[in-house]
Formats: sequence, C-alpha cells, structure tokens
Amino acid sequence: MSALAALRREMVRTCRAMNASGINQGTSGNLSARLDGGRFLITPSGLAYETMKPADLPVMDFSGRWWGPRRPSTEWRFHRDILRARPDVMAVLHVHSRHATALACLGEGIPAFHYMVAAAGGAEIACAPYATFGTQALSDHALAALGPRRACLLANHGLIVAERSLAKALALAIEVETLAAMYLLARQAGRPKLLSRREMARVLELFRLYGTPEFPDADLRHEGAGLTPRRGR
Ligand code: 13P
Ligand code: ZN
Repeated sequence: MSALAALRREMVRTCRAMNASGINQGTSGNLSARLDGGRFLITPSGLAYETMKPADLPVMDFSGRWWGPRRPSTEWRFHRDILRARPDVMAVLHVHSRHATALACLGEGIPAFHYMVAAAGGAEIACAPYATFGTQALSDHALAALGPRRACLLANHGLIVAERSLAKALALAIEVETLAAMYLLARQAGRPKLLSRREMARVLELFRLYGTPEFPDADLRHEGAGLTPRRGR
C-alpha cells in the first residue's frame, strides 16, 4: 500500500475515533494531514464519518486548489493556514465538543486552572474571536489565538488542535475537552485557583521530558535553578 493510501485510511480511522470518543457528532468537525510538497489531505465537507471512505478525502495544495470526488471541508482555510505557518504541525483537528464549545460560547479560553493545560504547549488555551465558519477572518483569528501553541478555542463555534501526528491530535482534543469540562465544573462550585506563570513554565519544561528515559524522577526544587533534581535525600 502506498504511503498516501495508508494516510487516507488513518484519517478515516481517526475521524471514526473522534465520533466514538464523544468529541464529535453529525457532520461537524474536520481533519487534515500534511503531505509533502505543500499539499495536504482533508476531510470532505458535509459528509458523516460513518459513511466516509478513504477515497472521499480530497488532496489540497497551499494555493487552495483541490483534487478528488468531493469538495474539501469549508474550513480548508484554517487547515491550510496552520499547516503553512507551522512546520512542526502534521495534523489539524477541529470539533464542536460540548464543554470546550460551551466555554467558547462565553468567549473564554481555558486559563491555568490545572497543570494539564500545559499539554497544549502554553500557560493557557486562548479563545479566538467569532467569525463566520469557513471564512478567511476565522482562519486569521484562529492562527493568532493558536500562536506557538497546539490548541485554541473558537468563540461561538468549537475547538482546534494542531499536532505532530493524527494520533496526538486526537489525544490532545480529548484532553482539551476534558479540561474544559473540569474548568466549567470547578467554576460552578466556586472560583478555581489559578497556577502561577512560573509554575506553568516549570510544568512546560517537565513536559519536554515526560514519557522519556530522561525524565528526572527525583523530587524537583521549587526554588532555584530550574529542574535540578534533589539527589541523596
Ligand atoms: P465541514 O463539513 O465543511 O468540514 O464543516 C464542519 C464544520 O465544523 C464547520 O466549522
Ligand atoms: Zn466547525
């Protein structure tokens, strides 16, 4: 099987997993994956993932041309703009998941109420201002709200994740949706305490090594020079 055929199949699997995980429904949401030569695969517009086949996914290039039996997602602009601006990103995922969207409907992002907010690559997850779906204005707002991070919310709309692989994009989207649910729950019960910039910077540094053999498993100093492990205690 060619690499392109394998990626098409992985796209379909990821789309079905988006639905199965509960973060996506109906014909909402879209997904793209980078190809070489300034091109990308993207989900077709208005087609439910249960019936979508690998051959249904159009190929697009960065100038907006497309090839395939079906029209690309109406949101091809923000997929194109994120893939073009961010060479570290291989996959862009968009959904209208319940809690992230509820928060976005208040025009709010997710502040540093929990250390896992750093999983999106920053001290908070910003919310882009509203613009009509499919417009260049929405893409411009999304790119600005994303900044160097891997997730942002879209006011009165949903959530975007930009990651190094399709699997990571799905995992981060589920994480952000879970964080949004926790944040809304905490807000209902009281006023969540936010972590400091300094603590979030420390968590971001730890996340660089999390899951690798280099992760410093000794207790770490809160004060002083960064991540020096405490040894021999
Ligand atoms: P498409 O079906 O065109 O991808 O649109 C779904 C959506 O979520 C628009 O924002
Ligand atoms: Zn949408």
